[in-house]
Amino acid sequence: MGNRLSGKVAIVTGGNRGIGRAIAERLADEGALVAVGDLRDDRSADCGAEGLTFMSLDVTKEVSIRTFIDEVLQKFGRIDVLVNNAGIVIHKCIDEQTAEDWDRLMAVNLRGPFLMAKHVVPEMRRIGLGTIVNIGSVEGYMVNPWHTAYAATKSGVHGLTLGLAVDLGPDGIRCNTVCPGWIDTELNRAYVEMHPDRSLIERELGQLHPVGRIGAPKEIANAVVWLASEDSSFVSGEMISVDGARTKKISLPAILDEEYRAKLTKP
Ligand code: NDP
Repeated sequence: MGNRLSGKVAIVTGGNRGIGRAIAERLADEGALVAVGDLRDDRSADCGAEGLTFMSLDVTKEVSIRTFIDEVLQKFGRIDVLVNNAGIVIHKCIDEQTAEDWDRLMAVNLRGPFLMAKHVVPEMRRIGLGTIVNIGSVEGYMVNPWHTAYAATKSGVHGLTLGLAVDLGPDGIRCNTVCPGWIDTELNRAYVEMHPDRSLIERELGQLHPVGRIGAPKEIANAVVWLASEDSSFVSGEMISVDGARTKKISLPAILDEEYRAKLTKP
């Protein structure tokens, strides 16, 4: 618990579960009043969530975004922090990918953050400050097989971040992106569960990260709190990887990598 965001009002999209939920809870821990916007207005998720208000929001629909923001303003009177977290993934190679898949990914992952920013920025301008934190991905720089469209959306989020930082800097509004590595959430669990030997996959996933393990949602939330707060007051337009150094390690043939990997799994 702290007070780094005391008196601030924050919005977190896709905050019912996973990384978004951890972000909403950490922002509230730091004193923010948090409006959680998600497809389901999941008030049952409310239990034990002090400082969180759950409202329905579909980031693919501009009408839903406007209604949500009006509700937030009616309830809290201002918006200081926007966290664009809602996201989906589709695993398909390019020849199986349909135009509808592409459009759906773009609508949630890229058009959504654009529209949220478009509708929130006038409120931030009105109070003369604000911070926008997008959740991008290490897949904005590198890509897993069958993630062409997903990677394109996340590169787009990184580009959006640069543009917003430049355009909104003069208004006292900063914009940054956190790029998570492999984080343990439902989005990824389904992927792991497709494999018959789950414990093998989990061990191998850990070994891809020089820190020897995958990440937890709270570790992304801690970076978001820093970017949302005055502690990062001169940081804008940055893509910050939170990935246990996964993207910093150059791949080696497995046989040469064995000693290193063995060290990572030592208790
Ligand atoms: P989850 O699938 O666990 O949670 C995503 C949340 O977003 C869900 O609550 C979902 O609602 C909501 N959502 C989906 N579509 C919409 C929409 N149209 N409008 C509003 N809310 C919506 O995902 P994660 O927590 O793992 O991922 C969060 C973010 O982090 C995403 O942007 C993802 O791309 C990114 N990321 C995740 C990584 C990981 O390893 N987990 C790695 C890199 C980036 P519902 O449950 O109703 O579908």
